[in-house]
Amino acid sequence: MNPNDSQRPPSVDALARDLAVRHDLPHAVLVDCARSAIAAGNPADADRLATEFHTSLLRDVVNATGVLLHTNLGRAPIHFSRQARASTLEFDLATGERGSRQSSIGKLIATMCGAEAALVVNNNAAAIMLVLGALADGRDVAVSRGESVEIGGGFRIPDVLEQSGARLIDVGTTNRTRLRDYAKAVDSKKNDIALLLKIHPSNFSVNGFVEETPVSQLATLGVPVVADIGSGFIDETCPWLSGPAPSWLAGEPAAKQALQAGASLVTFSGDKLLGGPQCGIIAGNADLIAQCNAHPLARALRPGALVISALQDVALAYLDKRVTTDIPFWAMATTTVEALRIRAQHIIDTTGVGKLVETSALPGAGSTPGASIPSIGIVVAGNHLSALRNRPLPVIARVVDGSTVFDLRSCFAHDDDELIAALKSLPVR
Ligand SMILES: *Cc1c(COP(=O)(O)O)cnc(C)c1O
Repeated sequence: MNPNDSQRPPSVDALARDLAVRHDLPHAVLVDCARSAIAAGNPADADRLATEFHTSLLRDVVNATGVLLHTNLGRAPIHFSRQARASTLEFDLATGERGSRQSSIGKLIATMCGAEAALVVNNNAAAIMLVLGALADGRDVAVSRGESVEIGGGFRIPDVLEQSGARLIDVGTTNRTRLRDYAKAVDSKKNDIALLLKIHPSNFSVNGFVEETPVSQLATLGVPVVADIGSGFIDETCPWLSGPAPSWLAGEPAAKQALQAGASLVTFSGDKLLGGPQCGIIAGNADLIAQCNAHPLARALRPGALVISALQDVALAYLDKRVTTDIPFWAMATTTVEALRIRAQHIIDTTGVGKLVETSALPGAGSTPGASIPSIGIVVAGNHLSALRNRPLPVIARVVDGSTVFDLRSCFAHDDDELIAALKSLPVR
């Protein structure tokens, strides 16, 4: 049926049935597309709406951007597969009684961080929200003016504080905040400071005449210090690597050292430098963690079995020192430039397309602002981004100076055949 054949608009149902010939989408979705197109007076547009919807579905892509933890591409990629089975999510196999979904994962994370206890929630924003709601509701929280930041996606520290029921007490100045600024806020009769909140300004860096107060000094004021370290870097010494910590991690705050320096709690994301599923982690003092867990918000923010299971795999990989083989982010980040060069040359030789270039990959997700990891790319003249996005397995690349660059560090070797097919499909030789 051609919708333009008749004078009267086609029926929604007839149009939806016609769409079904070309679009593998549920009937109810096609009915929606048909209805919208007819209501807009342009039934012929239904095809485009159906294609648009199909393209908008969540799917896998090859990340050739060189940004390893790409916020728009789901941050840390993880392995995950599971049989359809029940699990011991809240069941204690030893006693046959009800168990806690938090107890074993909490112990694993606590062991990794050198903490007394840990709690897992849906993301780091939820972790901060829960800490403030459970420990500072109706009380005051001191935050440096230099750390009263927007993390991204409209997540602003002052707004989160307000939502949680805590009152924000700004201390210091935008560029310099000293211990005595915090001490003044703590000592003031007007304030009832429940926590000192230290936030890692993870998506920008300020240079020049700047000073911040380290956790070790804040911990001397007799008020619990909560350090939002952001990225989930576990230990500055990277005991899971065979060599020393790589230089691109220099200056990145780590959970273990923040706790050793005297933070009562640290909060961080699961899907940044940790390399796990989307979740938020609160680790540190057992009494404070218990208070967070007992707060009604904890129930609303708790993760499901899929997340806990994926996070458990990640925690076991850290503790068994299988990080660079078993955690995809760390595998990408620690691949040698030489290995990337060999892969790139093989792709270029196989396709006869593109040239090898040295590039700088980025850890991404706001971690380690300004740091980069040496990498290798393939550069192809012209902007091919749109054609690459339209492939069966879309390839997301980058354009630099009018040429398309595929950075190999953020692509897995198991996708090199996809890159070969993608390069062969481009209208260049
Ligand atoms: C990323 C980040 C957050 C937000 O974490 P989500 O897991 O995305 O909710 C909060 N604080 C800091 C410092 C961050 O880097």
